[in-house]
Amino acid sequence: MIEPRDVVVVGAGVGGLATAVRMAARGHRVTVLEAASTVGGKLAEHVDAGHRFDRGPSLFTMPELMEELDGLVPSDVPNRPRPFAYRTLDRSTHYFWEDEEDPLVAWTDSERFARDVEARWGVPARRLLRHLRTSRDAFELTRGVFLERSLHESSTYRSSAAWRLLARVWSLPLLGTLDRHNRRRLGHPKLTQFFNRYATYNGSDPHRAPAMMHVIPHLEHGIGTFFPEGGMRAIPRHLEALATSLGVRFLTDTAAERILHTEGRVTGVRDAHGEVHPAHLVVSNADLHPTYRRLLPDLDAPEHILTQERSTSGVIFYWGVRGTHPQLSLHNILFSKDYADEFRRIQNEGSPGADPTVYINITSKELPQDAPEGHENWFVLMNVEANPEKWDKDAVATLREDVLAKIERTLGERPNIVCEQVLDPGTIESMTGSWRGALYGASSNSKAAAFLRHRNRSVDLDGLYFCGGSVHPGGGIPLCLLGARIVDELAHQDA
Ligand SMILES: Cc1cc2nc3c(=O)[nH]c(=O)nc-3n(C[C@H](O)[C@H](O)[C@H](O)COP(=O)(O)OP(=O)(O)OC[C@H]3O[C@@H](n4cnc5c(N)ncnc54)[C@H](O)[C@@H]3O)c2cc1C
Repeated sequence: MIEPRDVVVVGAGVGGLATAVRMAARGHRVTVLEAASTVGGKLAEHVDAGHRFDRGPSLFTMPELMEELDGLVPSDVPNRPRPFAYRTLDRSTHYFWEDEEDPLVAWTDSERFARDVEARWGVPARRLLRHLRTSRDAFELTRGVFLERSLHESSTYRSSAAWRLLARVWSLPLLGTLDRHNRRRLGHPKLTQFFNRYATYNGSDPHRAPAMMHVIPHLEHGIGTFFPEGGMRAIPRHLEALATSLGVRFLTDTAAERILHTEGRVTGVRDAHGEVHPAHLVVSNADLHPTYRRLLPDLDAPEHILTQERSTSGVIFYWGVRGTHPQLSLHNILFSKDYADEFRRIQNEGSPGADPTVYINITSKELPQDAPEGHENWFVLMNVEANPEKWDKDAVATLREDVLAKIERTLGERPNIVCEQVLDPGTIESMTGSWRGALYGASSNSKAAAFLRHRNRSVDLDGLYFCGGSVHPGGGIPLCLLGARIVDELAHQDA
């Protein structure tokens, strides 16, 4: 038995929600303060003229992490929600190039995918299968150290996972960039572009990100591609239901204003209404920047971490579209002709330029009720620099015209748009508190990035922890869920 503690979680993003579930499952009294009127953070949704849109993440991997949270709630708990429901997809994405007639379908069945690639481009299937195997091996070898433990605890380096990693470190792609690795291993420009795209899964540039990003394809091609029943918004809804069944108290429309502390230990949180919530433990799920700058202005902020390059942000158009498009699936990519040039432009000018890579997500392909009959709900995202100042109305309008032209060149027609909403770096920042509108916290554009992510436990204040996309192990739903597990284990060890 552990002694129940008062815990305040600041922010109800996916990381904060999962932390609340874990800590409540241990018996702690947990209160979650959320500035917005609903939980979920970036996992928000809106409805426009009968079209439902998931506003943020669209790609769901590693569903076992949600199942693990289900498993923490005893079956006799009243109001325990049904287990998290999702479907397994046979393909991840449809990939389009302007000069290719048909899309390349990325089957999750690797053999089938490799056979299709061989038939289309003549790249031997065994070469692609070897590439996917090395992705799996690198993922399995590194996950126990880089994803499932804190990198800032000496115990991590004494763990069996660390010894295994050390023994086989020679087998990892440690040299050069992801782009160089893919070019050398695959020897085909379009297949290289296909595998380079995985760097964008954490908002990085494949031409600068380390070759170790090669672990990411395994998530889709090895573990699989999934879709939550009800769409991505079902994820925070489910976590909220799990937490509520365990007695977690949610205070929405309640921004935390200050993390209170005395003699090197947290004592609670004062909210913007002036109420003080006493706490033995405080977990900040807010972005690291506002956590230090606003909630802890009296602490010395770790400037070397706060000044790390941000991950990319996005400009997203949410379009209700009249008509149906059978060549499109749930996830679609319309690739630019020159990926290196596109990323150079994002880095130097903030925008992908006149030939952007366009990602189109259409949940009505899986959930017909997400759009009126004969319509589709298009979520159209382009990677851009996380820099709100660059994204005024004119810049968004220019990008919109470039995107429509790109769609027309690739698919042969412009979408018939019946309603529209837009999100840009500025609105992402104002709606979720994510510094400069970055989608994934700091970028992974350097070899040291993993080690420069902020630790999960404070070195300044006892009882203070950090979770979410701007701290270790990083952004994206699976990593935020893993971060919650690390925080919970650290807090448990400290108790
Ligand atoms: C457009 C877009 C597309 C994406 N695509 C994908 C994808 O396909 N797959 C994927 O895995 N990931 C994707 N991501 C990234 C993913 O959404 C994030 O990494 C993840 O959701 C971040 O969760 P978090 O726990 O850091 O919390 P956030 O979602 O960042 O939420 C933080 C919460 O804290 C609250 N908060 C902040 N300050 C305070 C305060 N002072 N007091 C109280 N509350 C506060 C905010 O209101 C917010 O609700 C995408 C993100 C975006 C925006």
